Amino acid sequence: MIAFDNSYARLPDGFFSRVNPDKAPDPSLIKVNEKLAAAIGLDAAWLSSPEGIAMLSGAAVAEGSEPLAMAYAGHQFGGWSPQLGDGRAHLLGEVVGPDGVRRDVQLKGSGATPFSRNGDGKAALGPVLREYIVSEFMAAAGVPTTRALAAVSTGERVQRETGMPGAVLTRVAQSHVRVGTFQYFFARQQTENLQTLANYVIDRHYPSARNAENPPLDVLKQVMERYAKLIAQWMCLGFIHGVMNTDNVQIAGETIDYGPCAFMDDFHPNTVFSSIDRNGRYAWVNQPNIGVWNISRLAEALLPILDADEDAAVKLAEGAVAGFSDIFNDALNEGIAAKLGITVNAEFMQSTFKVMTDHGCDFTLFFRELTRIAKGGTTEPFEALFVTPNAAQTWLDSWRAEHDPALVDRMATVNPIFIPRNHRVEEAIASAVDGDFAPFHTLVEVLERPFDAQPNRAEFERPPTADQVVRETFCGT
Ligand code: AMP
Ligand code: MG
Repeated sequence: MIAFDNSYARLPDGFFSRVNPDKAPDPSLIKVNEKLAAAIGLDAAWLSSPEGIAMLSGAAVAEGSEPLAMAYAGHQFGGWSPQLGDGRAHLLGEVVGPDGVRRDVQLKGSGATPFSRNGDGKAALGPVLREYIVSEFMAAAGVPTTRALAAVSTGERVQRETGMPGAVLTRVAQSHVRVGTFQYFFARQQTENLQTLANYVIDRHYPSARNAENPPLDVLKQVMERYAKLIAQWMCLGFIHGVMNTDNVQIAGETIDYGPCAFMDDFHPNTVFSSIDRNGRYAWVNQPNIGVWNISRLAEALLPILDADEDAAVKLAEGAVAGFSDIFNDALNEGIAAKLGITVNAEFMQSTFKVMTDHGCDFTLFFRELTRIAKGGTTEPFEALFVTPNAAQTWLDSWRAEHDPALVDRMATVNPIFIPRNHRVEEAIASAVDGDFAPFHTLVEVLERPFDAQPNRAEFERPPTADQVVRETFCGT
């Protein structure tokens, strides 16, 4: 049993379409996230029961659930789509946790909706497991993110590049309101709905904005601040989101939609993973540029409710968006300084990135081995990340001049030992497609504690060998 309380379903009709999920022909549970269930006040045992699995697979609508597909629009790779919406997801409802936080419980891959356009409404097993693994790692690493509550396989084949087993992910989020939700009403010139959405977002995510002189402007500033800091956190982990479309920018500031995302192995600022990102729009280094672009689209969508006078509204919006780069740069400088165990030094950070690029250093191991050196360890493993040991020593000399030993403990809390390396994720997926879920379970378990040494899991620390390198992840729909 779940005590649903569905505030989104109480919004006006134009916000969503009521539609039930498809009944999976032969659902079977892959995993319930017991810790998350407990944290948000759900009964993991019930979720794993036949009734629970029926809900998680879409086979049955649980009591109190009011399934709906949310309407939204968005810019995808810069191109405008006036109508996207949940084409393969069903919001089952909301739950309020013991912490007082209201959260969405949503199925993804649960069948077609009025927003499906040409899609089948389904999800293949691979992308479901990738989102499970990566979003749960992000949470463990302290990055705001949607969460994975459960994964089930449907017993159905879905047609992708080839036939694939189908699956459904249960996603938990502070909400699924996106920049694209505001764009949807802006594009339709539905100012009343725009205001209703803003009020909803203020109540649910930004209550402090209620008392601001200009509440929508305050929301814009707060969303921008969360998003700028979020992108800095991604970059500090070598993470590349892959599809930073405006429909994938969540208003509450959580990372959402883990499609063709991945973590860099060898550091190169221009790394992309998506096979469709031909121009490097969403490359690691370009993420803040796209971030400010996405926030500008939010600002634009809010114009009608920022000020009755259009010029005045534009001025307010521009003023707010102009704050992005300082917030982002401060967050990145501070984040990288913490990883290096130094006080903020943007110049040293840039020269370090240059050295890491020139030598193709593994991003995660660079900081992991540096942390060991800071704790008094030997320098050989660090040297091995460089083309020559001498180059490593030269950089280390410059680092020693900056390093503050008082910052060593902090280094260990921000430099993960384990990340979801792409070859490991792909390996877990390939095994699962063949029916063996053990590597998936192991990987999830290792990544629950990314900062703790797990000596019996040392193989998960290693970068891929030449033949294990995964060049790109496919869009995974
Ligand atoms: P995404 O790339 O996952 O952010 O999705 C972008 C848009 O495409 C959203 O409106 C999705 O609901 C829709 N979409 C993606 N995959 C499918 C699918 N298999 N069936 C229907 N709609 C889909
Ligand atoms: Mg999306």
